[in-house]
Amino acid sequence: QAKRASVFAVAYSQGMDEQYLRRLQIVQSLPSAVREQRLQLHFQPKLSCQTGQVLGVEALLRWRDEQLGVVRPDEFIPLAEQTGEIQRLTRWVCGAALDQLQLWHEQGLQLSLAINLSALDLQWSELVAFVTDSAKQRGLSPAWITLEVTESAVMVDPEQAISRLQELREVGFKIAIDDYGTGYASLAQLKRLPADELKLDRSFIQHIASIPEDETIVRSTILLAHELKLTTVAEGIEEDSAWQVLKQLGCDTVQGYYFSRPLAAAQFEEWLDNYQR
Ligand code: C2E
Ligand code: CA
Ligand code: CA
Ligand code: CA
Repeated sequence: QAKRASVFAVAYSQGMDEQYLRRLQIVQSLPSAVREQRLQLHFQPKLSCQTGQVLGVEALLRWRDEQLGVVRPDEFIPLAEQTGEIQRLTRWVCGAALDQLQLWHEQGLQLSLAINLSALDLQWSELVAFVTDSAKQRGLSPAWITLEVTESAVMVDPEQAISRLQELREVGFKIAIDDYGTGYASLAQLKRLPADELKLDRSFIQHIASIPEDETIVRSTILLAHELKLTTVAEGIEEDSAWQVLKQLGCDTVQGYYFSRPLAAAQFEEWLDNYQR
C-alpha cells in the first residue's frame, strides 16, 4: 500500500496523466492478482454454423480488482507482455481452463476448449512441454484443445512461430489463427502457417448482412481457407441476419453475443442446459 502511494506521489509530481497512473497500477497489481487467484475465466460457446450445435468454448480472462474495477484483457495483456508477467498469466490460464475442461468431460460434456496465446508465449521455449504436460496430467487428449494465436503475434517472428506451432500440432493440439484480416499476413504466409482454423475478425462479421463489401471479403476468405484445408470461424455474431449470411457462405463455426456472451463456468452450464432443451 505504501509502495503504491509513493508511486502515485512521484507520478503526480511529474504531471503524468490518469491513463498512465492506471497502467502503472495495473502493472503493480497484476502479479499478486495472478498469485492470489483473483483472476477468473469466462467461457464463450463456439457452435456449428450449419446446425447450431455447441462444439466447444473459448476461455477468456476476466479481472475485477478492488481498486481498479474491471480491467479488460485488452488493457492488461499488452502490459503483462511488456513486464514479462505474461508467462505466469498463460500458465495460470492453461491450468484453470484445463481443470474446467476435465470437470466437464467427467460430467459427460464433450466440449472442446480454446485458449488464447500471446505473441510472447510463442517465444517461450517451454511452451510446448508445458501445455503438453498440462493436458496429460488431466487425462485430456490435445485433440480437444485449440490454441488461438493472432495473425499479428505470428508476424512478430514468423520463423519461430511457425516451428512452435508445428511442434504443437505434432503433439495433437489444434491451432487457430485469430483476428484474421486485421494484420499483415500475406496469402503466401497464410499458406505456410501450420494451422487448423481461421478466425475471421469480428470487424468483418458484425455488419455482414448490411455491408456488401464485408460479405465479399468473408466469402472469398472462406473459399481460400477451405482451399487451404482450414476450418473457418466467424466471431462477433450479434444478430440472426449475420448468422444466416454465414450459413449461406458455408462458414463452419460461429461465435458471438447472439448466442452467448462469455460466461463464468456455472452460468455457462446453465446457458447450455437451456440452449439444448
Ligand atoms: P479475442 O481472442 O479476439 O476474443 C474475442 C473478444 O471478442 C472477447 O473480448 C469477447 O468477449 C469479444 N466478443 C465475443 N463475441 C462478441 C460479439 O458478438 N460482439 C462483440 N462486440 N464482442 C464479442 P475480451 O474477452 O474482452 O478479450 C479481448 C482480447 O483479449 C481477446 O480477443 C484476446 O486477444 C485477449 N485475451 C482474452 N483472454 C486472454 C487470455 O487468456 N490470454 C491471452 N493471451 N489473451 C487473452
Ligand atoms: Ca481468441
Ligand atoms: Ca479474435
Ligand atoms: Ca482480438
